[in-house]
Amino acid sequence: MALPVDKFREECGVFGIFGHDSATAHVALGLHALQHRGQEGAGIVSFDGKQFNAERSLGLVGDHFNDPKVIAQLRGRSAIGHVRYATTGGTTLRNVQPLFAEFDFGGLAIAHNGNLTNAGALKRELVSRGCIFQSTTDTEAIVHLIATAREPRAMVPPATASPGVVLRIIEALKQLVGTYSLVAMTQNFMLGARDPYGVRPLVLGELDGALILASETCALDILGARFVRDIDPGEIVIIDESGLKSLKPFLPVSPKFCVFEYVYFARPDSIVEGTNVYEVRQRIGAELAREAPADADMVVPVPDSGVPAAIGYAHAAGLPFELGIIRNHYVGRTFIEPAAQIRHLGVKLKHNANRATITGKRVILVDDSIVRGTTSVKIVDMVRNAGAKEVHMRVASPPTTNSCFYGVDTPMREDLLASSRTIEEMRKYIGVDSLSFISLDGLYRATGQQARNPKTPQFCDACFSGEYPIALTDFLSGDQPAQLSLLSERG
Ligand code: SF4
Repeated sequence: MALPVDKFREECGVFGIFGHDSATAHVALGLHALQHRGQEGAGIVSFDGKQFNAERSLGLVGDHFNDPKVIAQLRGRSAIGHVRYATTGGTTLRNVQPLFAEFDFGGLAIAHNGNLTNAGALKRELVSRGCIFQSTTDTEAIVHLIATAREPRAMVPPATASPGVVLRIIEALKQLVGTYSLVAMTQNFMLGARDPYGVRPLVLGELDGALILASETCALDILGARFVRDIDPGEIVIIDESGLKSLKPFLPVSPKFCVFEYVYFARPDSIVEGTNVYEVRQRIGAELAREAPADADMVVPVPDSGVPAAIGYAHAAGLPFELGIIRNHYVGRTFIEPAAQIRHLGVKLKHNANRATITGKRVILVDDSIVRGTTSVKIVDMVRNAGAKEVHMRVASPPTTNSCFYGVDTPMREDLLASSRTIEEMRKYIGVDSLSFISLDGLYRATGQQARNPKTPQFCDACFSGEYPIALTDFLSGDQPAQLSLLSERG
């Protein structure tokens, strides 16, 4: 059993490349760069001109797809791939994507990042029509919707390969409520789509004339590929032998990109919605220093995710930035799995206080977020035991008061420390001398906005504000989260 992670966890990353001689090797590398978006399973499906070839595996990308024999079997000039994180109980091979199915028009592989908030309703409807589900992923509902969709007569067929198939996919996507950034592949084309709110990221890249779709730009960098642009919210791109066609078949809505991507999910070297994530995190730290100064000797990040904000805080506050906590980067599954008998070690497996640096000092600890608070308690305890005179905690996101239903693994609301406690109560629970969180407006400013628009927020910030921009259809219809999790694993 893995150690519990006291963080929100991004659940999936997707990657696809169309028309490249080394398609599969590039997908494996791209997925490796997206590993932070999901560590429990990975898969690749390629098309070699005659047939689809699929390989899926539990574990890290490098555990399986670094084998040249595996890559060699995945022949073809087009391939898509997926990394996923699954909630407990969902870690089975049948849930690892891309999913593949044979249709009346031929094969289709699909990989999805996001969560459908009407998945329960869709699945019940599809099952009542005779559909049989083999996995518990939301993504399989999309597969069945494509299978049962009919070409809409009212729509003009797009000037792409297999226009009828494209129209059926659009029909299927129109029935979805929730979030999706997905890549799909048929014999003739690759398709990328982002839900109308654009909650999860998806970017377009280019390498040697071949077009690429990826969750983040860091997956382009590893290949030396060029970043072309973000796929727009509500945009569907079709990539075939004639190039790229862009379709916008949905009614436009105000975009709601996930603001937590800036705080924690995305890799700091990625460009997200036109902005470098590392720079946003530094600006968050600077805003935090202005909003919540503390009389202290040094700024110490909780590594690794607290590092950029701590640098920004230290610069703005004119304080030294010190690595007062050292992270062991070699704590992986191989060590954690057999370690149940030493679980009491907890965070010490991963973090150790740098005693010589912090003894006798007044320390400002900077972390990206507080979720349950259990890890914060242990880290603060560790820093105090190492001799820190005072510990002031500064958090690079507002209090996390609500769960996410849009493709992120989060605890139930009642398990979130901030859902039922005041800041003073949290301060006492964590055991720090002072505790402050960045304000929602400060977070928006760090992303480049002037302030949060209270009527139409520029981002999804539901886990901080409780304002869910996309209907939680299954929940409103009376499904309990426990039942939902049986029906629905997020992609
Ligand atoms: S609730 Fe919204 S902001 Fe929070 S993690 Fe989910 S998508 Fe992101």
